[in-house]
Amino acid sequence: MNARAHRLEVREVVSETAEAVSLIFEIPAELRRRFDYSPGQFLTIRVPSAETGSVARCYSLSSSPHCAERATVTVKRTPGGYASNWLCDNVTAGSELTVLEPAGNFVPRDWNRDLLLCAAGSGITPIMSILKSALAVGRRKVVLLYANRDRQSIVFGPQLRELVRRYPRRLTVTHWLEAERGLPTARGVSTWARPYRGHDVYLCGPAGFATVVTQGLGQLRISGRAIRQEEYRSLTDNPFERHAAVVLAPAVGGSAVGLAPGPVGVTAAPLAVVPAPVRPSADTATVRVEIDGQAHTLAWPRGEKLLDVLLDHGIDAPYVCRESACGTCVCRVRQGRTRMLMNESLIEEELAAGLTLACQTLPESDDLDIAFDQ
Ligand SMILES: Cc1cc2nc3c(=O)[nH]c(=O)nc-3n(C[C@H](O)[C@H](O)[C@H](O)COP(=O)(O)OP(=O)(O)OC[C@H]3O[C@@H](n4cnc5c(N)ncnc54)[C@H](O)[C@@H]3O)c2cc1C
Repeated sequence: MNARAHRLEVREVVSETAEAVSLIFEIPAELRRRFDYSPGQFLTIRVPSAETGSVARCYSLSSSPHCAERATVTVKRTPGGYASNWLCDNVTAGSELTVLEPAGNFVPRDWNRDLLLCAAGSGITPIMSILKSALAVGRRKVVLLYANRDRQSIVFGPQLRELVRRYPRRLTVTHWLEAERGLPTARGVSTWARPYRGHDVYLCGPAGFATVVTQGLGQLRISGRAIRQEEYRSLTDNPFERHAAVVLAPAVGGSAVGLAPGPVGVTAAPLAVVPAPVRPSADTATVRVEIDGQAHTLAWPRGEKLLDVLLDHGIDAPYVCRESACGTCVCRVRQGRTRMLMNESLIEEELAAGLTLACQTLPESDDLDIAFDQ
């Protein structure tokens, strides 16, 4: 079982709309620090399944850590979907769920910026956390474009109205209802967003909505690479079960040498202790990894992704999706060159700051130094 998984009690279930419920968690005192979170992050919930034992699904925290709210996720039923319907149908006050500690990179780093937020459907959940936090912590403006099928499907309608009433000069909310205006269009988004060029953009919603928003903002010369986006999808991997390493084809000039799975629970060297020497070779680079206050020096096979190497050594690296989408395994390359096979969550300025996703990272140089310090 993943060391970052914990049993949490659901204190209350709130019906938000006919299709969406909020699950409010009771976090016991001994887990409070572990469940500290930033606005925009998500929890991963283990949902029992008769077929597979369990499935794992991510749900963004809709609560704000800056507004004295209990940690809350909001789940909207996906038609034909397994976990969302199971959660909506089965969880009641007092239910216990197995939940991974908060994770994710869809997090504003600077509250002294104006924010342009775009959400559709259940995409409102991380956006709501960011919006409430920005109003509570920052002093700048927040504009929200919120698309829904019709008035009945708006999640958090009353809370948004109350916030507009409390912050009339700082918060602007525009609803786009398909029942009244049809689906959002790039032209409509660009017309709406024109006065807000220069705001930091956060976007969460289905793929079609994300495409239209990106096109609309593109018409205003806002680059897609500057748009921070959370993409909802169901996990194919299950971080609650033991992982299986994937060894890639060899890099040019090397041979495919996968690390034999190392013993689980290898004792980590404390930061002050110099670990045993590990030398780079044609097949392996050497990496020093700092994580949770401990340093490890490891041979890094050139065809193997950093996260797999760490997990094979029993090192408790954070991860959820292992597909580059969730940003949980983000880390910083402090020395050496790496390359990513895929990147769906880091934006340009984060790449420039040396951030990388461990689940997609291969070594390019011989000696590397990487820190999980996010
Ligand atoms: C970072 C992140 C945050 C998220 N936050 C939220 C949130 O706050 N709120 C929220 O409601 N959701 C959120 N999601 C989405 C959530 O994790 C689930 O993906 C969603 O609830 C659907 O899961 P499900 O098990 O109900 O559906 P699934 O069973 O995974 O099905 C999804 C869709 O695929 C179809 N499908 C399933 N199996 C098959 C098959 N074999 N062949 C063809 N089609 C199939 C289903 O009919 C359905 O339309 C988030 C996702 C991520 C990655």
